[in-house]
Amino acid sequence: MSSSADSRTVVLIPGDGIGPEVIGAARRVLEAAGTGLSFVMAEAGGAVFAKGIKSGVTPETIDLIATHRVVLKGPLATPIGKGEKSANVTLRKLFETYGNVRPVRELPGVPTLYSGRGVDLVIVRENVEDLYGGIEHMQTPGVAQSLKVVSRKGCEKIVRLAFEVARSEGRGKVTCATKANILKLTEGLLQHTFDDIAPEYPDIVAEQMLVDNCAHQLVIAPEQFGVIVMTNMNGDILSDLASGLGGGLGFAPSANLGSDCAIFEAVHGTAPAIAGQDKANPTAVLLSAVMMLRYLGKFAQANAVEHAILVTLESGVRTGDLAKGGPSVGTSGFADAIIANLGKQSTRWAVRTGTPLSFPPAITPAARVVPAQRRVVGVDVFAEWGGDATGLGRALEAAVDGTPARLVMISNRGTQVYPATGGAQTDAVDVWRCRFVARDGGAMGDALAIDVMQRVAGVAPWMHIEKLQEFDGVEGFTKAQGQS
Ligand code: NAD
Repeated sequence: MSSSADSRTVVLIPGDGIGPEVIGAARRVLEAAGTGLSFVMAEAGGAVFAKGIKSGVTPETIDLIATHRVVLKGPLATPIGKGEKSANVTLRKLFETYGNVRPVRELPGVPTLYSGRGVDLVIVRENVEDLYGGIEHMQTPGVAQSLKVVSRKGCEKIVRLAFEVARSEGRGKVTCATKANILKLTEGLLQHTFDDIAPEYPDIVAEQMLVDNCAHQLVIAPEQFGVIVMTNMNGDILSDLASGLGGGLGFAPSANLGSDCAIFEAVHGTAPAIAGQDKANPTAVLLSAVMMLRYLGKFAQANAVEHAILVTLESGVRTGDLAKGGPSVGTSGFADAIIANLGKQSTRWAVRTGTPLSFPPAITPAARVVPAQRRVVGVDVFAEWGGDATGLGRALEAAVDGTPARLVMISNRGTQVYPATGGAQTDAVDVWRCRFVARDGGAMGDALAIDVMQRVAGVAPWMHIEKLQEFDGVEGFTKAQGQS
């Protein structure tokens, strides 16, 4: 939780489209509930882009967030194709909100495909690493590459956050969903880190699952899950899937949590088609506000607002998105009904009372994992070649002939194509990974690696190179498909 100046002042960002309406409704409910919060208004999104600020966030807004560290925001529109950054991503990165927390639960009067089964889960998604670093390069005009960056430090933080969320909400199980069977080093890092940290939480069942199976299980038996922790892209996709297990976008809240900053918002966007018409459903933003109250340790007020939401939905009051043509109220009418129900408790629908969330340590110096031993055993040189594998392989072997380096293999899109492994068919592209090691099986120094690069360049242009490192005798690289 924030340790800075005044954790009871919340930065309110109305945002774009339906944002001002749903944020306005949430503010009224929070004020009526006697939460003791005060609000400062801040700008981000469309109006800021219109001023020519490409990040979508003004310096004043950044200062306010830096001071108060708790934000409740409406959705922000990202203009397409004018060089602007997503204002949402700007905020997440600026304040290192590394954990995206998305609860999904069954709500009264909100029919879903799973009604009656008691769906009640939380997805905890790593929010800043993985493929979303957006480090991409065209290797050749026909081959694109994206770097998937996963760190031990990032995994430790997100895994601890997942267990802390479970503990604070009294949830008995955390599932770590990864693609570690294929991505042994990146996804595997989350898997191993989870195994390392789980024993610190003996009161919580820790479970590993492959993310594809997790997708399947979420659809067939979502009630089995408590908290699910995932890397960024897997979490992005499965948290949206999970929103569909609940009542959909009008009911999906979220929190972007960092060690010292938290941004709460509905999952939905600006819904431009219904903006300014008092039609938007404010429940998602209100449930986000309930998460915020718990984050601030205001459990009684959080429970009061959540109960009022449950009682209102139970009584059949609904906005147009849920009414599907039947009787409905507008955004402000829905907020009025919730305010009128403050102090009432649902007898059929429970709220999770919870205990304060405890955070992994705040931002620390650049993480360094220091092995006792390390050595470079070879290099992968990625080169452009329009011919076939045999032609490239023979040319490279000739190029390093008589040097201390030898070509081990060439792969194309991850599959070994030289020496041929027999029987396999590979529909090759013009980027080839050429793996070299020291002929004597020893270490490959920089001088030899540079010599290899120059010799490769004499055969085919190279676009990048990766050292093959061993840490404490463990290979820090994967083998190609088909490589023995
Ligand atoms: P959207 O969520 O705005 O709308 C999808 C559909 O759901 C629409 O039919 C909309 O009317 C409906 N809907 C969404 N929220 C609703 C609510 N509270 N009540 C009733 N109906 C609701 O998604 P989109 O159309 O893909 O995106 C529109 C804009 O929002 C885009 O500019 C996008 O970049 C932005 N966006 C922002 C955020 C954010 O700021 N966190 C998230 C998603 C999309």
